[in-house]
Amino acid sequence: MERTYVMLKPDAVKRKLVGEIISRIEKKGYNIVEMKTMYLNEELLKEHYAHLADKPFFPEIVQFMTSGPVIGMIVEGNDAVAGIRRLMGPTNWQEASPGTIRGDFANNMTENLIHGSDSVENAEIEIKRFFG
Ligand code: UDP
Ligand code: MG
Repeated sequence: MERTYVMLKPDAVKRKLVGEIISRIEKKGYNIVEMKTMYLNEELLKEHYAHLADKPFFPEIVQFMTSGPVIGMIVEGNDAVAGIRRLMGPTNWQEASPGTIRGDFANNMTENLIHGSDSVENAEIEIKRFFG
């Protein structure tokens, strides 16, 4: 069994897509083993998005990710890290196929509804970061 960190972003909450997205994760066969609502701050986002902290669009990410609550989850199942990324679709909404979460619901580079860890190693780091 593999674990990954999933986070529903503020747009998912505002647009009332939380149920829809969780339903897709459950229907694919994953288990949600922990879940909580959180409010993120800039310090935590600089850590979580360290690979983007120097980019010109980073302030936009902070603005968005602090605009409302997020829902953090530990999701478990076979091949959970790659499998959740497949359900999400690629970062760029224009490349995300219909049938994926971003392909079906996102039309913006920043506001793209969902985060999922990109490797098993990062999953464990992110689970520790958000769940201690
Ligand atoms: N992001 C953005 N502009 C970009 C690249 C990324 O606003 O050009 C945001 C977007 O919300 C993305 C997040 O930063 O989901 C993290 O970027 P990453 O490359 O890690 O993509 P992800 O793993 O979320 O697909
Ligand atoms: Mg990423």
